Amino acid sequence: MTLEQRIQDVEARIEAACERSGRKRQDVNVIAVTKYVSLESTGSAIRAGLTQIGENRWQDAEAKWNAFHDQATWHFIGSLQSNKAKEVVGRFAYIHSLDRLSLAKAIDKQAKELEVKVPCFVQVNVSGEESKQGLAPSEVADFLQQLKQYSHIQPIGLMTMAPFEAEPEETRPVFRGLRELRDELNRTCELEQPLTELSMGMSNDFEVAIEEGATWVRLGSILVGKEGE
Ligand SMILES: *Cc1c(COP(=O)(O)O)cnc(C)c1O
Repeated sequence: MTLEQRIQDVEARIEAACERSGRKRQDVNVIAVTKYVSLESTGSAIRAGLTQIGENRWQDAEAKWNAFHDQATWHFIGSLQSNKAKEVVGRFAYIHSLDRLSLAKAIDKQAKELEVKVPCFVQVNVSGEESKQGLAPSEVADFLQQLKQYSHIQPIGLMTMAPFEAEPEETRPVFRGLRELRDELNRTCELEQPLTELSMGMSNDFEVAIEEGATWVRLGSILVGKEGE
């Protein structure tokens, strides 16, 4: 399939998932994850209108960011080492992988220097899989209280990754769990601003994630492709 066909195919599937769940199409944002593709393909994706770009390692993103930073909005979606916060803050508009206070401290320090406020998603390990990053759901309320000391971080929502399932329907409890956790935190924590966003759903499971309330889906292989395969 060409890029145009993939974009159309994904768009039709997003619209159908919104329809099934009574959601508005405009409430679901698409992040094109370009980590599997070249600089050239990233440029093509942006020219085709995919202007929310996700990358999960600064080393791999650097050349793409240098080439196209003013043509897209950049999302850092991978696990972030505290010593890389310097590179990421100020370049990426959103960080989806905030999962520990030491990282919050590093982000906050850099953000303060640049006089910016960084919108962040708190990453949650809903499935409990050992290989997955993120806080346990029971740890998030306390984490949000601790984050209040970092005035240059704006927690805007939660992020999770579901385990890969041959049958995407099986991911539903993970996505539903993240939505219910967000709603509960908004009811019970005294947050400065409510958590509105849910970053969840990848190529294999984005339709289920949308049905369960995703406001950002992160799509790599199905949308921009996977080169070298
Ligand atoms: C790679 C990656 C994606 C996209 O993966 P696909 O399955 O190719 O859509 C989404 N989110 C994160 C955190 C990733 O690392």
